[in-house]
Amino acid sequence: MLEAQKATQIEACKNSAKLPVKAPSKADTGDKLEAKNLFSYRKYWAQRFGIAPFLPMSREEMDLLGWDSCDVILVTGDAYVDHPSFGMAIIGRLLEAQGFRVGIIAQPEWSNPEAFMALGKPNLYFGITGGNMDSMVNRYTADKRVRHNDSYTPNDEGGKRPDRSVIVYSQRCREAYKDTPIVVGGIEASLRRTAHYDYWSDKVRRSVLIDSKADILLYGNAERAVVELTHRIAAGEHPKEIQDIRGTVYARKFTPEGWTVADMTAIDDENDLHHIPDRAEARKKLREADKDKIAVRLPSYEEVIADKALYAQASRVVHLESNAGNARAMVQGHGDRDIWINPPPIPLTTPEMDGVFDLNYQRAPHPVYGDAKLAAWDMIRFSVNIMRGCFGGCSFCSITEHEGRVIQSRSEESILKEIEDIRDKVDGFTGQITDMGGPTANMYRMACKDDNIQKVCRRLSCVYPDVCKNLDTSHESLIQLYRKARNIEGVKKISVQSGLRYDIAVKSPTYIKELVTHHVGGYLKIAPEHTEERALSKMMKPGIGTYERFKSMFDAAAKKAGKELYLIPYFIAAHPGCEDEDMMNLAVWLKQNGFRADQVQNFIPSPMALSTAMYHSERNPLRPIRRHSGEIVKTAKGVKQRRLHKAFLRYHDPENWPVLREALRELGRADLIGPGKKHLVPSYQPIGTGDNKPGAKGYAKKKDQKSFFTTHAGQGRRRADEAASSRPVDGPAAARKSPDGPSGNARSNNKPAGARKSSRGKPSGQRRRIRT
Ligand code: SF4
Repeated sequence: MLEAQKATQIEACKNSAKLPVKAPSKADTGDKLEAKNLFSYRKYWAQRFGIAPFLPMSREEMDLLGWDSCDVILVTGDAYVDHPSFGMAIIGRLLEAQGFRVGIIAQPEWSNPEAFMALGKPNLYFGITGGNMDSMVNRYTADKRVRHNDSYTPNDEGGKRPDRSVIVYSQRCREAYKDTPIVVGGIEASLRRTAHYDYWSDKVRRSVLIDSKADILLYGNAERAVVELTHRIAAGEHPKEIQDIRGTVYARKFTPEGWTVADMTAIDDENDLHHIPDRAEARKKLREADKDKIAVRLPSYEEVIADKALYAQASRVVHLESNAGNARAMVQGHGDRDIWINPPPIPLTTPEMDGVFDLNYQRAPHPVYGDAKLAAWDMIRFSVNIMRGCFGGCSFCSITEHEGRVIQSRSEESILKEIEDIRDKVDGFTGQITDMGGPTANMYRMACKDDNIQKVCRRLSCVYPDVCKNLDTSHESLIQLYRKARNIEGVKKISVQSGLRYDIAVKSPTYIKELVTHHVGGYLKIAPEHTEERALSKMMKPGIGTYERFKSMFDAAAKKAGKELYLIPYFIAAHPGCEDEDMMNLAVWLKQNGFRADQVQNFIPSPMALSTAMYHSERNPLRPIRRHSGEIVKTAKGVKQRRLHKAFLRYHDPENWPVLREALRELGRADLIGPGKKHLVPSYQPIGTGDNKPGAKGYAKKKDQKSFFTTHAGQGRRRADEAASSRPVDGPAAARKSPDGPSGNARSNNKPAGARKSSRGKPSGQRRRIRT
C-alpha cells in the first residue's frame, strides 16, 4: 500500500470516534503489539509434582498426588469439566503448566465457609469465577423468573450457585482464610468491572471489585494476566500492590506521580455534558502529557447513579477504549477510592493459542460426577473451538467487551490434532464433529489488513455500518481447514453450528458453496435479529437486504448441491430502539416469509453491553451523548410491553391473539386482523385459548364455535388443549449454544428467537395447521 494512502487510512480510523489518539510514531510502525510469551516464564518449583490426571477436588486426590497443599485454588460456579471450553480448566491447566499446584472447588455450598476449606488454605491465592456465564443470566429468565435448570450443573439441576456468585464466593473465602489474597475473574467479574447497570435489581451497582472486596480483578481472556500475576505473587508481591498488568482492575486512593487523568468529557468533543469548565485547556493539557501515562476518568459510581446521560457516555467511552493497540487506562471513583482499569490484554499469538488448547485436558467431566448428565459438556464434547474474539460489535452482545475485537486463531495443525484426539479419546464418538467454530463461525484468521491501522482504530465494529474496506474478508484459510478436517480418517461429518456472520460470508461464494455442500444438514441458524432499520441500527446489525442476499446465494448453492436446506433466522424482541410498530412489521415479515418462531426470548440487558446502556439510559451511546439535543431511544420496559413484543414473534400462537389484536388496533392497523393470508391474526378466538377460556378476562364462549385442532407433522391430530400444553416454554433457544458458554460466548446472553419455516414438509416436524 502506498504510504500516502496508508496515512490517510490511519487518519480516517483515528477520526472514526473523534477522539485524539496517540499519533503513530516510529515505534508504532512495523511492530506488532509485544508481550512476554505465555510459556516463556521460569517454571515454579512445584512442577516436580508433575501433571495431575484431573485437577484435585478433594484432600484424598491431593494425597494421591503427593501434595500437602495447593498453590492456587480456583472456586467456580460451574461443575468442573476438564476441557478447553471451560474457564476453570483453561486457567487451572495453564497454571499447572507453569509449575503451580492447582485445586478446584466447584459449585460449593455457599451458606458457610466450610466447603471453601475443603482443600485447605492455598499458598498463593483463591481465584474466583462465577463460571462460563454471569450467574444472574444463568439463574433468571429475561422476565426475571428463576430458571429451574442449569446446563453447567450435573443433571441440569438449578439452584447450585448463588446470585452474584463472585461476591458470595469471595466473602466465604475471606471468612475461611482471612489473609489469603483473592483474585476474581471470568465473565461475571469481567463484565461487571466498572459501575454497571444490573437488570435484575434495576439499579446501577458498584464495580464487583469493590463489592467482592477482592484484591485484584482480571478481565477478558486472562491467560497473560493470570500467568504474570501468579509468578509475581509466588515471588513475594502482594496482589494489591501489583498495578501494572494489562487486563486487570485494582483500587487505590491516590493518582500516582507522572500520570495525567483526563475527564472523559474532555476527550470526546461532541458530547455536551459540560462537565469540564474549560475544554480547550483540558485538551491542551492532554496534548502535552506523557501519552503512555494518560488515564481517562469516567464519572464516578455516585455520578452515574444520579445521571443517566453520564452513564451512557461512560459506557461509550469504555467501549471506545477497548482496542489493545490504543486503549488508555480508565479510572472511576467509588467513594473515597478509585478503581483503575488497565488497558486490555494483548491478544494471544497463534502459537500461544495452540499452547493453551493443547494443554493436558482429560476432555471429560471430573469423575466425581459419575454418570450424571452435564448438558454443557454434551453440547461441546464433539466440537472444536478454532478461534476467539469478534469484530462484529453487535451492541447487545458482550463478546467484544470480554474477548476483544481482534481474532485470535489457532493453527491448522492444532485444530486437526484436536479432532484426532476427539476421535481417539472421547467416548461415544461416531464420526460426527458437531461444530467447528467459535464466537462466530466464519471469522477464522480474518484481520485488519494493516497492523498499524488496526492499532489506531477506534471503530466499534469492523462490519457496521458497512464492512470496512481495511478488513481482509478472505475465507480461504477456513475453506482449507474444512477440507483438511473432512479428510481425517474416522471423521464422517463436520457440522458448522456456530453463528454465521452472513454479511462477510456473502463476500465469498466459494465459502458458501463449501459450507452448504459439506457442513450444513437440514438447516442453518443465522441471526438477522430484526428486519426494521430503527432496531437494527441500535443493534449494529446489517439491513435485512443483506440477509436476503445471503439467502439467495445459500438457496442457489443448496440447489446446486442437490440438498434441501433451510435457513433458521433468529430475532430479538424488545431490544432498545425497537418500537411496537417495528415488532409488528417484523411479525408481518415472518408471516409473509412463512416463518413461525418455536422458541422466542426477549432482550436481556446483560452487564456492560451497549444495548444495556441504551435500555437503562434511553440514550444512544453509539454516538456522543448530547444532553439537550440527543436521540431518545424508546425502549420496551415493563412486563406488559415486553410481553407484547415477544407475542409479535409468536403471532401464530392463539394465546397471543387477544393482545395482538388490541395492539394492532392501537397502532391503527386493524386491517391486519382477519382470516386471510395478508392478515396477521384472525378476528376469532378458538375455544380454550387466550381470552376464550373459563377464568380468562373477557371469556365469552360462543356456542357455534367449532373445536380447535393442531396438526404436527407425523403426530396426527390433537385437540387444542393438548397442543397448548406442549407449547415451547420460555427459556434459552434450544438450538443455540449455551450462554457465555464454551469459549466464553457472552454473545448468547441474549438468545434471540429461532424461527422455523412453517410451510409444509419443512424441518423437524414443526408444521402446525390450525382449524376451526
Ligand atoms: S478493519 Fe476493523 S480494525 Fe481495521 S480499520 Fe477497519 S474497523 Fe478498524
